[in-house]
Amino acid sequence: MATFITGASGGIGLELARVFARHGHDLVLTARSSEKLTEVSAELTENDKVSVRVIAADLSDPKAVKGIYDQLQRDGVEIDVLVNNAGLMAYGQFSETDWAREFEMISVNMLALTKLTKLFLPAMLKNEVGHILNVGSTGAFVPGPLEAVYCATKAYVLSFSEALATELEGTGVTCTCLCPGATHTELQARAKVANVPLLSHWVMDAPVVAEVGYAGMMKGKRVVVPGAYNKLQVFGARFMPRKTAAALAKELMTPKG
Ligand code: NAP
Repeated sequence: MATFITGASGGIGLELARVFARHGHDLVLTARSSEKLTEVSAELTENDKVSVRVIAADLSDPKAVKGIYDQLQRDGVEIDVLVNNAGLMAYGQFSETDWAREFEMISVNMLALTKLTKLFLPAMLKNEVGHILNVGSTGAFVPGPLEAVYCATKAYVLSFSEALATELEGTGVTCTCLCPGATHTELQARAKVANVPLLSHWVMDAPVVAEVGYAGMMKGKRVVVPGAYNKLQVFGARFMPRKTAAALAKELMTPKG
């Protein structure tokens, strides 16, 4: 049995790989950067004595998603934990953002996550054991001006995960949605976000987010929001008109200075 983690070449995915390895899970790791994956594999094999297999793939390509599954089937690798972590963000007014990036984002954040779940879930159900950990965002709970498509993809991830968690009750398989807030990784730099209030305070470290996500998944929690500030944000949003929440979210994502 092995844990399959997408987006394991850096950021939260790399830290999740480290946590799972520390807890003795054999791993299958994927991302596009094969060099980084090879380095991660060497580190985890050496430190934690787990078996690590790496598959370099671009998850925005639907053929790659099926290709990974087929390869693991051929090699007889059974997946009992699926971690859909890979994701990207696009930033700016929707009228000005790049469609190619948004298409890639929708493909990775939503389509690949859904297809991988579709492919790996039946064996978990047959074995009556397994976990699915989907990485959403606090941005899933409110509309996100200046990151409109990104937050919409994360709202999809949250809704899908919660619905699946209910469908899976009593099967031995759980589904958890980990919803981090701002976290120190490459995500924002890659999306060219800078000097925005949301990233100036209470930014969490990826290893902490990964630990909290792992613990929540193992307890079978449906939604895990790491950090007191993020919990407060998500709780507060429940009592706010969505128009007000959207205006506040815009303020937090508008560059200052
Ligand atoms: P990151 O440092 O940019 O890491 C993203 C990971 O996804 C990398 O391993 C990257 O690997 C992989 N990836 C990106 N595009 C891919 C593609 N087309 N095909 C395959 N893999 C791809 O960002 P992160 O913050 O760790 O993001 C991890 C998850 O956390 C994402 O779902 C993100 O939305 C979520 N999240 C992050 C934050 C935050 O503030 N950082 C907040 C809330 C939620 P390659 O580039 O090697 O392919």
